[in-house]
Amino acid sequence: MFYSFFGGVNPAPHKENTRRKPIAQLEQPPRRVYLPLTSGRDQALLPAVKPGDTVQVGQPVAISRGLESTVHASVSGRVTAIEDCPHAKLGTVSAIVIENDGQDTPWSGRPEPLIPEQLTLELLLGRVREAGITGMGGSGFPTAEKLRQAAGRVDTLIVNAAECEPYVTADYRLLLERSDKILLTAHTLARALGAQRAVLVTEGDKLKAVEAVERRLRRSSGKVELRTVGTRYPLGAERQIVQTVTGREVPPGKLPVDVKCVVLNVATVFAIQEALFQGRALTHRAVTVSGGAVARPRNLWVPLGTPLKDLLDSVGGLREQADQVLLGGPMMGLPLDDLAAPVTKGTNALTCLTRSERRGAGERTVCVRCGKCVSACPMHLAPAFIHRALEQDQPRKLPVLHPQDCISCGCCSFVCPARIPLLEQVERAKALVSEGGEPT
Ligand code: SF4
Ligand code: SF4
Repeated sequence: MFYSFFGGVNPAPHKENTRRKPIAQLEQPPRRVYLPLTSGRDQALLPAVKPGDTVQVGQPVAISRGLESTVHASVSGRVTAIEDCPHAKLGTVSAIVIENDGQDTPWSGRPEPLIPEQLTLELLLGRVREAGITGMGGSGFPTAEKLRQAAGRVDTLIVNAAECEPYVTADYRLLLERSDKILLTAHTLARALGAQRAVLVTEGDKLKAVEAVERRLRRSSGKVELRTVGTRYPLGAERQIVQTVTGREVPPGKLPVDVKCVVLNVATVFAIQEALFQGRALTHRAVTVSGGAVARPRNLWVPLGTPLKDLLDSVGGLREQADQVLLGGPMMGLPLDDLAAPVTKGTNALTCLTRSERRGAGERTVCVRCGKCVSACPMHLAPAFIHRALEQDQPRKLPVLHPQDCISCGCCSFVCPARIPLLEQVERAKALVSEGGEPT
């Protein structure tokens, strides 16, 4: 049975510059890494090291109060400071600075690898928590907590390899290069959670990855289902992927687990594999560096905490002036003004766009009431009405327009012929409603 989701758009994929490039090491390892003392949920972490300490790769260096989040050294070397550093989302944060000794010495306290047959739910949750794994598709939610909520309550585990953001191919390459490990882990996770099936979802245009997965599945007697779907943004959003796979709609304010599904990004599944079967904490991730302004677009395997500038140096810098630099892709990425900000667990891409590539470039006009933003919104919102309420300074009209349900996909801004920055306006409306706007 095939299902679809409402709305969405078809931006040009722009993936041709990196999709054939294997994930490569940085040409020069970072001299220093900066590990922010904050989890993906804006929660403060407590340092477990001090300046002068020596650390090894995978050693815990900061832990949250509830032990739900841990940060590990991504290089071996010496802690030189705990000081402020720029952060793409939060402005400035306190970070542990480690000077890299270039030895990549693994942590002597690293746990023993498990074998799949040994795995119990308790062991799974403990290992995922200790490895500091959080949602690597950008949510930053602690994965152990997500799995705990899902245990015994879901019938379907969805591995999200849709990667519908233009330019970004890091997940595609990871799936292509590590499909055996990802499939084994998906099957093991489904069993541990009590789910009846594991479904790996990717877009049909990712042919090489589809072939690699099909080959593996033939050998492993098909314990994971492969679902290839037509390219449509934002298929990779949790609610939209659940609906596409199962036909179940996640109601506003609810989670996939409320309709018996759990969704894990493919990079998160790979990180779980490393934690369970290699004894490795989350210290590295794949990042796509692309965009028309980049000299040699590539996929890189990057120690967390590496300054974004070092990534740019590894791709030969810029070949022309970038009109916009984004952390992430052009639909959901955050504009960056300081490349000293470090790679974090949720960083999947650095995208440097030329003027002609930049979305929304050109003169802004007034709303022409075309309704395109309403047709494109996968959450059934009316961004034009939200825009109007803000323009007319009538915040009391906002709550009934439900900006809180927005998933920040950017489809409305993408289709708007008047080039109104609708996503930013909906975000502003969200903040106003949180501060206490009332229905008229
Ligand atoms: S209002 Fe939010 S959910 Fe709807 S299209 Fe715009 S960004 Fe996406
Ligand atoms: S897409 Fe832009 S111009 Fe069209 S209705 Fe929405 S806000 Fe107005």
